[in-house]
Amino acid sequence: MTLIKTLAQSLDPLQGSSPTLRAEFVTWYQLAKVPQIRYVAFLTMLLYLVYAAVEYQAASAQQGLRLALHGVLVPALLLGVGLLSYRTSWHRLMLGLLIGAPIGAVAVNLYFNSRHGDFAYYAPEMYLNLMWTFAVSGLTLRQATLTASTSAAVLLAVTLVSSLEPGLQRLNLVWILASFSFGLLSAFLLEKAHKTMFLHQSQLALSASVDGLTGLWNRARIDQFFSDEIARAERYGTPFSVILLDIDHFKSVNDTHGHTVGDSVLQQFAALLRDNVRSVDKVGRLGGEEFLIVLPEIDERQAQAAARTLQQRINAFAFDTVQCKTASFGVTQYRDEESRHSMLHRVDRALYRAKENGRDRIEVL
Ligand code: GH3
Ligand code: MG
Ligand code: MG
Repeated sequence: MTLIKTLAQSLDPLQGSSPTLRAEFVTWYQLAKVPQIRYVAFLTMLLYLVYAAVEYQAASAQQGLRLALHGVLVPALLLGVGLLSYRTSWHRLMLGLLIGAPIGAVAVNLYFNSRHGDFAYYAPEMYLNLMWTFAVSGLTLRQATLTASTSAAVLLAVTLVSSLEPGLQRLNLVWILASFSFGLLSAFLLEKAHKTMFLHQSQLALSASVDGLTGLWNRARIDQFFSDEIARAERYGTPFSVILLDIDHFKSVNDTHGHTVGDSVLQQFAALLRDNVRSVDKVGRLGGEEFLIVLPEIDERQAQAAARTLQQRINAFAFDTVQCKTASFGVTQYRDEESRHSMLHRVDRALYRAKENGRDRIEVL
């Protein structure tokens, strides 16, 4: 079972990641590919114009139609892909064209050349087409595999029923196999490298937001949640509240039992907070033994009830070594058009009052 898991992970570094992270990757990846799609489409368009001119001189039959398809239709499609890349709302259409264009190009090539003796002269366009689809076009592995498999299936079917001499037919099959497998491998390796990079980047981003000791949100991140909530309250007029809390006489834990026990109490305390709020509430460590909880869509009365629940859980909890620990709470609700600073100042005064009035208390301001 672990072998299968390791294998799956080595094939897909995002294997086992959350659906949200996988969805984020797809969005990021598709967007990151846009410049590649644009410039490759423009370059390929130019190369097709050159190809059409050379082909016009070399071809022995149907020069006019070849010129119309390779010198006008294909370049127009590629120009379309390039131009559609400039607007996000056009990207679906862009991808549709990008998937259709290489399949169309293979079909056109086969239409012109599969019945002629000079098939071999024109076939490289199709081998290059398969490689291009996988490694150059900017399609994702899945999109490229779908596109190139369709092209290769058409190519194989026509080759097998064609009247090519057996040696040439076998050579053609080898080139199809080679271009398809090189293409597939490079697209796979490229996408795997991007997934690994994305995973590292999101782990880094997460670690920059998390407090190392407790695993709660750090000060910068909780401040960000706080500001987001203010923006939401301003926009939709919904209430929200915050709880500021501080462990009582925490210094004595360090003084009596040492810093390691102090750290362990902080970790257990953090877990208690996290496990006893709603999943939408954000719990952060401001520093030392001071914590801030942002509670969306909750008024002062409900926030006070939430603080009371936390107080009961903390007071009933047996911490390692020190057993009992209490905390003091400040609670406040957002007031129209006030700043984060003013709300924080008020909740800080509420906490100060709880300390002043004897600790292990909740004060609302
Ligand atoms: P009060 O009831 O007034 O809040 O008293 P207190 O002792 O809890 O508050 P005080 O601010 O005097 O002391 C806080 C202590 O927290 C001092 C500091 O050594 C300790 N502390 C801060 N950060 C950490 C940490 O990361 N780990 C440990 N073990 N202790 C810490
Ligand atoms: Mg304290
Ligand atoms: Mg303190």
